Amino acid sequence: MNLLDGKKAQYYTLGCKLNFAETSTLELLLKDLGVKTAVKGEKADICIINTCTVTATADSKDRQLIHKVIKDNPDSLVVVTGCYAQLQPELIAKIKGVGIVIGAEKKHEIITAICNHFSPQATSTSPLPPPPTSHSSPCTFFPACSRGSRTRYFLKVQDGCNYFCTYCTVPLARGRSRNGSIASIIDDAKRVADEGGKEIVITGVNTGDFGRTTGETFFDLIKELDKIEGISRYRISSIEPNLLTDEIIDFCAESRAFMPHFHIPLQSGSDDVLRLMHRRYDTAFFAHKIEKIKSVIPDCFIGVDTIVGMRGETDRYFDDAYRFISSLDISQLHVFSYSERPNTKALEIPYIVPPQIKHERSQKLLSLSEQKIHDFYARFIGTKRPVLLEHTSCKNKPMHGFTDNYVKIEIPNQPQFDNHIIEVSLLGFNEKADALTAVIDN
Ligand code: SF4
Repeated sequence: MNLLDGKKAQYYTLGCKLNFAETSTLELLLKDLGVKTAVKGEKADICIINTCTVTATADSKDRQLIHKVIKDNPDSLVVVTGCYAQLQPELIAKIKGVGIVIGAEKKHEIITAICNHFSPQATSTSPLPPPPTSHSSPCTFFPACSRGSRTRYFLKVQDGCNYFCTYCTVPLARGRSRNGSIASIIDDAKRVADEGGKEIVITGVNTGDFGRTTGETFFDLIKELDKIEGISRYRISSIEPNLLTDEIIDFCAESRAFMPHFHIPLQSGSDDVLRLMHRRYDTAFFAHKIEKIKSVIPDCFIGVDTIVGMRGETDRYFDDAYRFISSLDISQLHVFSYSERPNTKALEIPYIVPPQIKHERSQKLLSLSEQKIHDFYARFIGTKRPVLLEHTSCKNKPMHGFTDNYVKIEIPNQPQFDNHIIEVSLLGFNEKADALTAVIDN
């Protein structure tokens, strides 16, 4: 007898694309067992909250959401999973109304835990599952694929991280690096193609580290993915600079479907701060990577992650970083403020950057980012590029899409082009939409 058939569930996700992909997969698994997704305002039997713990603010948002979900759904089974649940299971279990707490490493056990809860033999009232047995491996890979919009899919290929950068809590929350096999990931990508998906974003915690548990390599993976005819576009969500080999860059430059677009975490443009962070490269190495990309893919969009206000980041170090980042031929910065995380090595670094200075540094890098993206977009005004047009639910609103090299464009709404790749002419800036206006070529 299927105990879940006919039940309704509601899903809540905080944090990264990986979490969203995993929530989607949980939804599909429950759907297979007859669980419908509750529409807004409808009573749900099960509420699943997938949490994040990347900053102190994320922790606080998790707690607020848990309390709100319990208040709005007093009779539901509330299941809390994800990175915050991994690091603070006892704290969450103490919240009155939480039914099950399962950390990120055990996401694959959620369905069993929910079934057990609804089983007539269920006796346990503890929100925490029994302690791990010798059979449960902390290295289990929970595959996931989600449809971010009607046009773009997020395909998880890897989880966890072995790097232990001093500011980062992710290896503690998500465990060690592990991955699915190339064969299983190819099957997932083929399913996306069968559903009519055109673009896949390859997602992981440390994506380039793919292959640790299967003896394969990220390079092998992208070569195989490129062969799937139904998929027109791939983007790599983020790849560590030391794992973005020249071989991968050359392959992407020549490939059928890998877009001229990279997202690379730099974190700091000061060698001293990179050392404090235990990052595995220096600024000279990073600069070489950018030059290499630009030499073989001149129109490539390059997004770069940076952290400001890391412990130990003195004024001089920040000035070095700013100068270095300004000098790079990159397209956009993603600026994060350092957040103190329990049990991380960075807490041993004595100099703490005052919040006001952190804020000023963040504003300075955000302005630099605006200038860089403006300069990048300006280069393509008056040119033609292929765009994957995205669905818009509102008839009177313009449509958006991204060129192959990740320039956001806006055109008048023409629903017949939804999920189509069309050549457009790029006309000029639309500052309101952070996009270029475009017309479809006849
Ligand atoms: S590479 Fe560093 S920052 Fe990225 S998840 Fe691993 S430890 Fe964290």
